[in-house]
This record gives sequence, structure tokens and C-alpha cells, in this order.
Amino acid sequence: METKDSSVKLYVRGMSAAERILWRCYEDSESGCWVWTGDPGCPRYGQMRIGGAGSRKEATHRLVYAALRGPIPDGLVINHLCFNIRCVNPGHLEAVTARENVLYGRHNGWHGRAACLHGHTYTDENTRVDPKSGARKCKTCDRNRAQEYRDRKRAA
Ligand SMILES: [Zn+2]
Ligand SMILES: [Zn+2]
Repeated sequence: METKDSSVKLYVRGMSAAERILWRCYEDSESGCWVWTGDPGCPRYGQMRIGGAGSRKEATHRLVYAALRGPIPDGLVINHLCFNIRCVNPGHLEAVTARENVLYGRHNGWHGRAACLHGHTYTDENTRVDPKSGARKCKTCDRNRAQEYRDRKRAA
């Protein structure tokens, strides 16, 4: 079993910043988001220091993206395709210019994205809004998930 102590030892042994972040994430089974839980008081995306005390803070999703997908080109920012700013799943992140990020990002709600994570176009017929979160949901994905669930039950 993991204890607080073992995490400290792992840290001292030199886990990379990305490993330290992923160690404190859980996977949301519905969205597939890897949600960082390291700093629940932080209202925006997660940040952590990459060096010792007093060093610069870097956004957690940028660190994981750089570790798993490669360096982020100069001048590009990381856009959350899933609109969950605490998510660090590199499959939900894309490097875009700051201008694109403003167009697609929270300033413009989710209206800027043309398709869901699986590439289904957000047409009027294919879109519903989750009443709890206000997030935009893809009906094709909903149907696929429901079908998978039925298939699994049949197979069981
Ligand atoms: Zn996500
Ligand atoms: Zn979809």
C-alpha cells in the first residue's frame, strides 16, 4: 500500500515532474480525463514547482504534455480539448497558438470546437448540454457508450 512516506521517498529518489503529477491523478471513467488532485484549493489548472523551493512554477498539463508527447514549440500554449482545466491526459491536449486558444477556450465557452474528442461533429442534432456541468456532450458518443454497456451486459 502507498503511504505518504513512500511518496516522499519516490520524490527524493528523483521522479520526474510528470511522474509526480501523474501519481496524484485519477482517471475520470466517463470523460477519460486524468484529473490532477495535487492542489484542490487551486481554482485554475494545476501548477507545481519544477525545481526546489522558490523556483518557477509550471502548469501541470504542460509538464505532462512535454514529458509524454514532446517539447511544446515556442510560442504555443496547450489547449484542453475536453475543457477540463485540471485534466493532464495528453490525448485531451493540443498545442495551439495563444490566439487559437482564446478563440477556442473559456472566453468563448465551448462554441469554438467543431467536433468531440472522437471526431464527431457538434451539429445541433448531435449536441446536448449536460444539465449539471453545463458541458457540451456528443450524442453519438452517448449512443456508443450505451451500446457498449448493453454489449458488456449481454456478454456477462
Ligand atoms: Zn480531459
Ligand atoms: Zn463523439
